[in-house]
Amino acid sequence: MTQPGPGSDRSRGRRGDQPEGWGDEWDSVADVIVVGTGVAGMTAAVAAASRGASVIVLERSAFTGGTTAKSGGVLWIPNNSLMRERGLVDDRADALRYLARTAYPTRYNPEHETLGLPTDKHALLETFYDTGSVAIEELISMGALALEAVDYPDYYADLPEDTAPSGRAVQPVFPPGWRRGIDPTGGQLLVDQLQAAAERLGATVLLEHRAAHVVRNDQLEVIGLEVQVGRRTELFGARRGVVFCSGGFLHNKRLALEFLRGPVMGGAAAEGSRGDFVDIGIEVGAQLGNMTHAWWDQVVAELAVRVPETVRDVYEPFGDSMVIVDRRGQRVVNEKIPYNERAQVHFAWDPVRREYPNLLLFMVWDEAVAANPDPTRFRFPVPPPGERYEFVIRAPTFEALADEVSQRLEKLAPWTGGFQLDPFFVTGLAATVERFNVMADEARDRDFHRGETPIEEVWAGTPRPGARTATMHPFAPEGPYHCVILGAGALDTKGGPVIDPSARVLTPSGEPIPGLYGAGNCIASPAGQAYWGAGGTIGLALTYGFIAGREAATGPARSPAVG
Ligand SMILES: Cc1cc2nc3c(=O)[nH]c(=O)nc-3n(C[C@H](O)[C@H](O)[C@H](O)COP(=O)(O)OP(=O)(O)OC[C@H]3O[C@@H](n4cnc5c(N)ncnc54)[C@H](O)[C@@H]3O)c2cc1C
Repeated sequence: MTQPGPGSDRSRGRRGDQPEGWGDEWDSVADVIVVGTGVAGMTAAVAAASRGASVIVLERSAFTGGTTAKSGGVLWIPNNSLMRERGLVDDRADALRYLARTAYPTRYNPEHETLGLPTDKHALLETFYDTGSVAIEELISMGALALEAVDYPDYYADLPEDTAPSGRAVQPVFPPGWRRGIDPTGGQLLVDQLQAAAERLGATVLLEHRAAHVVRNDQLEVIGLEVQVGRRTELFGARRGVVFCSGGFLHNKRLALEFLRGPVMGGAAAEGSRGDFVDIGIEVGAQLGNMTHAWWDQVVAELAVRVPETVRDVYEPFGDSMVIVDRRGQRVVNEKIPYNERAQVHFAWDPVRREYPNLLLFMVWDEAVAANPDPTRFRFPVPPPGERYEFVIRAPTFEALADEVSQRLEKLAPWTGGFQLDPFFVTGLAATVERFNVMADEARDRDFHRGETPIEEVWAGTPRPGARTATMHPFAPEGPYHCVILGAGALDTKGGPVIDPSARVLTPSGEPIPGLYGAGNCIASPAGQAYWGAGGTIGLALTYGFIAGREAATGPARSPAVG
C-alpha cells in the first residue's frame, strides 16, 4: 500500500504492528524500515517482505523511484540466468579479473590471491558475482520482475580480462507498443514491478517521509529513525534493521565540492540525491569510502548552471562529422567512448597555469549532423531537424562561432572562474577539423581510436551512404556550424558509508554497526571507479539491496531499551 504525504489525513496515525516493549512514543514499528524507493530500496523491501518481515519504505519526495525512475532500467548482472540460457559462459575467475582490473586499476595484480585488492574490496566483488544472478532468479521466480536480454557489449569489452563481453546486460520486459520518451522509462517499469511485489507482500510505502537521523538503543544498536514528515518529526521503530537506499549526493553542493575529484556542474540524478546518508552515517560513526567517484557523464553547461538537476545529460555525443575540442580548438578525448570514461577528461589539471584546461569543452558539428533525422535516444544535445535549442550556438564560420561562444562564456563566468577561449581557438579548430577529415576518410582515428570498441560500434548506428564508418565523416567545407558548451556531470555519485558482503554498514575499524544496512548509490560502491557496462549501477544496487533486505529480515530482533 502506498500512502500519500503529510498533506493528507490518511498519512497520519500509527502504522505497522505494535510489538511488545515498544511503547507509545513510537509512531510506527516494523521489522525492517527501508529508506528510498529506487531499485535498491524496492528490492530490499521485496527481499525482506518475502521472508516474512513487516516492512515500511520511506521516501522523501512526493514520487517513488528516485533516479531509477529516470533511467533506462538496464541491469548488468554477471553470469545471469538469461545469458546461461543463451549458452553464454561467464567464468567466475575471469569475471572477477574484469571487475577488479577496472574498479581498482592501480591495485590490480592478476597473480595475487585477491587480485591485488584489499581483501574486503575483493570480497564485495565476489559477492556481487555470486549473488547478483541468485537475486534476479529469486525475483523472477516470485513474479517480482520480468526481464529480457539486451545486446549491449560491456563498456570495457576490448580489455583482455573480459571473456564474457556480452550477455551481462538485461532489462525489464517492455509492454508491446512501448514508445520511448512517451511511455514510462525502463527504470520506472523496474521500480513499479518491484513496488507492486513489495506491496503484495504487505509492505507499506510512505511518500514525503524523510529519514533525518537514526535512533539507537543503549547497546548502540540501530533500532529506528527520526523521520521528518512536513513540519513534524515521527519516530519509526525497526526491530530487525534499517536499510538505507537513499541515492547519492550529487545535488548536495557542500558534499560535491568537498569530496568529488573535480568540478562537477550537475546531472540527471533525481532531486532527492542529497547525500542524507553521508551525514547520517557520520553521526553513527560509519566509515566513508569511494567518496571521490561518481557515475560520470557530461552536461550542457548553460543548462546545468541554472538547473543542476538536469533533465537530460550527454551520454553518447551524436553525429559523425562532430568533434569535441578544448579552449584551444584541439581534440582531447575519443568523443564516442562511454560517458563514464569520457567525462573524466574534464578533470585534467594544468600545473603551470594552475587551472582546469578542460573545465569546459566544445562539441562542434556541421549541418549534415544537424539535418540527420535519426531519432536515436543518444541524439541530445543535437536538436531534431527543424527545432532550435537556445543553448546550441549556430554560426556560418568558425570565427563567428568563436565570437558567439566567447559571449556565452562571459555569462558563464560566475560558475567557471572566468573560463575563456584561447586566442588560438579558431586556428586550432580549423587544424583539428582538417586532420579529422583526413582520418575520417581513412576510417581510422589515429589520435583517440574513436569508434573502435564494441560498445562504440553498437551505439554508432548505420554509416551514411558510401561512408566506411558510422562514427566519423569529414566536415562540410562550408558552414553553418553548431556548438554546445559541455561540462562534467554525473548520473549520481557512488560514495558513502562502507558496507561488508552482508550489506552491513561498517565503522572505521571494520566492525558492523548493528541494525544498519545500505545499498545502491548511497554507499561506497563496490565498483570503485568502474562502470562495467550498461546497467552497471542498477545491477549492483539491486544485488546489494537484495542482500540488505534479506539480512535485515533474518537478523536478530532488537529491543528499544534506552538507559
Ligand atoms: C537518464 C538516466 C538513465 C540511466 N540509465 C541507467 C541504466 O539503464 N542502467 C543503470 O544501471 N543505471 C542507469 N542510470 C543510473 C541509475 O538510475 C542509478 O544509478 C540507480 O537507479 C540508483 O538507484 P538507487 O536505488 O541507489 O537510488 P535512487 O533510484 O536514486 O533512489 C533513492 C531514493 O531515495 C530517496 N531518498 C533520499 N534521501 C532520503 C531520505 N533521507 N529519506 C527518504 N528517502 C530518501 C530519494 O528521493 C530517491 O527516491 C541512469 C540514470 C539516469 C539519470
